[in-house]
Amino acid sequence: MSASAPITQDVMTLPRKLPEGPINLVGLTRDAMRDALIANGTPEKQAKMRVGQIWQWIYQWGVRDFDAMTNLAKAYRAELAEKFVIEVPEVVTRKVSEDGTRKYLVRIAGGHEVEVVYIPEEGRGTLCVSSQVGCTLTCSFCHTGTQKLVRNLTAGEIIGQVMVARDDLGEWPEIGAPKDETRLLSNIVLMGMGEPLYNFENVRDAMKIAMDAEGIQLSRRRITLSTSGVVPEIHRTAAEIGCQLAVSFHATTDEVRNKLVPINKRWNIEALLDALKAYPKVSNSERITFEYVMLKDVNDSDEDAHRLVKLIEGIPAKINLIPFNEWPGSPYERSSNNRIRAFADIIYKAGYASPIRTPRGEDIMAACGQLKSATERARKSRKQIEAEAGMGG
Ligand code: SAH
Ligand code: SF4
Repeated sequence: MSASAPITQDVMTLPRKLPEGPINLVGLTRDAMRDALIANGTPEKQAKMRVGQIWQWIYQWGVRDFDAMTNLAKAYRAELAEKFVIEVPEVVTRKVSEDGTRKYLVRIAGGHEVEVVYIPEEGRGTLCVSSQVGCTLTCSFCHTGTQKLVRNLTAGEIIGQVMVARDDLGEWPEIGAPKDETRLLSNIVLMGMGEPLYNFENVRDAMKIAMDAEGIQLSRRRITLSTSGVVPEIHRTAAEIGCQLAVSFHATTDEVRNKLVPINKRWNIEALLDALKAYPKVSNSERITFEYVMLKDVNDSDEDAHRLVKLIEGIPAKINLIPFNEWPGSPYERSSNNRIRAFADIIYKAGYASPIRTPRGEDIMAACGQLKSATERARKSRKQIEAEAGMGG
């Protein structure tokens, strides 16, 4: 739709050091920020304290202008402004659904665009964050999967999505105000575009910032990372991030899962379940969320429900049933409401919570699996999608 941004604009959002441009502080770990300050003239002895001060301005009070950092000397503020910037992605479009869901299209360096979705609910609000432009995986029911990977997002671009949402919600506290426990943006789910575990370090660094006690201050229990099943990274997620884990399970036999979630050919159901069994202990979290998209006549039978219960035996789990969200050219249909309820019932009777996820923001294509930036034109044809889904007939 929209043409690429002029180069100058893109350069402003680049989070890494440019040959002669300023460095974006957003997305740097505390250690990296300290190194950057020292490299640019801050005395080593003061660096840790300066990081603490700047950090609070950026992540607790939402300040983007060094001149507003009033606990720093004027001359030092000016020095900082010469060497550094505080940049977040640029919001290109903002759509609000009838149900209050907000979808932002944000532009990142290189003129790429990703989608961010805010979902308000009773007593909480969840931000669905993207981790990649496109996705290397090709789950056959997922709109993002029809878009080739363009690149990984940087940590700054990931935490920057949270910051632009807080900007739009008007949620930065008054400077110096006491901590406010009621939050419009209270939860983060890494369920937007991309496979977060194929961008591990950047996702980890961004989530550390989200959890930092002197910044955005979200508890690790309010952050959920969803993976299609990148088995070797699951242990690291538990050990290095410690957030809640959701897994795109979607099928109860390898044969069907190979088609729906092709990464299953690399790490099958058994390998995935083994990795999941260890997760709660290592991360000290409670339950794993099994996401299960309901596809008519593909994975929604009573037998599937019984098999699912058997497979997850012994894993503290909740099963999130997701009615399939259609997108132009999608090769599947959503299961009927009766079928979904019958499926949920079997799981519930086996002792697991089995909430059916209400699609949100469908009128603005903001629902799960509908995300795909319109500017990326690597769209596959319907025929190709069907062939990969094994529906060739
Ligand atoms: N790549 C990660 C996270 C992003 S997808 C993953 O696959 O887990 C977020 C969730 O939406 C996943 O469970 C995914 O399987 C689901 N999803 C994808 N396309 C969908 C669609 N068309 N309808 C419903 N859910 C979908
Ligand atoms: Fe990628 Fe997740 Fe979509 Fe699969 S479901 S194609 S892993 S974004």
